[in-house]
Amino acid sequence: MSFSFDIKHAESGSLARVGTINTPHGPIQTPAFIPVGTKATVKSVLPESMKDLGAQALLSNAYHLYLQPGSDVLDEAGGLATFMNWPGPTFTDSGGFQVLSLGVGFKKVLAMDAQTFRRDDVIAGNKDRLAHVDDEGVTFKSHLDGSMHRFTPEISMQVQHQIGADIMFAFDECTTLHNTRPYQELAMERTYAWAIRCLDEHKRLTQERVGKPYQALFGVIQGAQYEDLRKKAATDLGSMESNGQSFDGFGIGGALDKGQLGTIVSWVNQILPENKPRHLLGIGAPEDLFVGVENGCDTFDCVLASRIARTSAVYTMEGRFNLSNSRFKRDFTPIDPECDCYTCTHYTRAYMHHVFRGKEILSATLATIHNERFIVRLVDQMRQALVDGNFADLKADFLGRYTHRSGQSRD
Ligand SMILES: [Zn+2]
Repeated sequence: MSFSFDIKHAESGSLARVGTINTPHGPIQTPAFIPVGTKATVKSVLPESMKDLGAQALLSNAYHLYLQPGSDVLDEAGGLATFMNWPGPTFTDSGGFQVLSLGVGFKKVLAMDAQTFRRDDVIAGNKDRLAHVDDEGVTFKSHLDGSMHRFTPEISMQVQHQIGADIMFAFDECTTLHNTRPYQELAMERTYAWAIRCLDEHKRLTQERVGKPYQALFGVIQGAQYEDLRKKAATDLGSMESNGQSFDGFGIGGALDKGQLGTIVSWVNQILPENKPRHLLGIGAPEDLFVGVENGCDTFDCVLASRIARTSAVYTMEGRFNLSNSRFKRDFTPIDPECDCYTCTHYTRAYMHHVFRGKEILSATLATIHNERFIVRLVDQMRQALVDGNFADLKADFLGRYTHRSGQSRD
């Protein structure tokens, strides 16, 4: 088995730590931001560029790859990393979030809107929804062609083993902040039962697929905003073992109220086993990354950096702004003078404004390279600051300048 996690430095007085996740496709120095390439591509950017901007690993989506081109195609290709010409570690999200987000119909951004989603039947029971959950799994309609499919914990594991990522997530039921308390309890019970089934199927597949690199399996902690539910989930999954198989790490999932992010994450991370890595799912706004790191999360993913880049929105040390704004027409400075990315070292805001206004394809490529570099580098700086003992200074300095608040988003 070539998966391990070494902690090199643990911060005294907080849950933060610095470490290395070792995978069959190479190491990941943590804390780390993992860019999202939902369908085995970071939209508009070459893998070489992702490597150059400092990405250590990429996260793709089992649900999307199952539907197209089919997980069996990736298996034949030699796995996700080989298929997409990415020379490093990969993650796959289990499909639970995507199947359920289609079922619920809520926006992909997990920032909850209290006016829109109040009832449990947004998750189950409405025949017009694209997905229906039962105790065994989820039946859903493809968003591509309307064909019917079914995901169970076993099928999610089979799909993720075929895709072949180094780190996989257990199939869970993702709820919204506006489900009722009884529904949250029911969803937690399902996620618990599904976690055991994932462990069993993962063990069976690992033994069956001899000669393949070991794929690590992370359990997903749900429980919405409820302290007792989050702690119970962390206790149950943290110590869960079935037929000698336990989780290799953990994901913290579900809708997270931004104002409570640090509190919720600390409830969970105080309980989860210290010696296993923790991934905060769908979180990538700069201010949230500080909260996640100081509360003990090791890796993060979020589709926002690339998604907003394609709409001309960019992160900078002075906050977030839109390059298509006419005030940049004659601005011959880089997007962010402090950024060392390819875009900032070769192009001006005026050029970026021009390619966005002209709807040139290059606009997406250049803006995505900048945003991904900005977030990857920010978390790299946090890692270095933990080693140097000045994390609090970095946080105060950064947040003193950066004020824009943006949401959580999975894809
Ligand atoms: Zn840049």
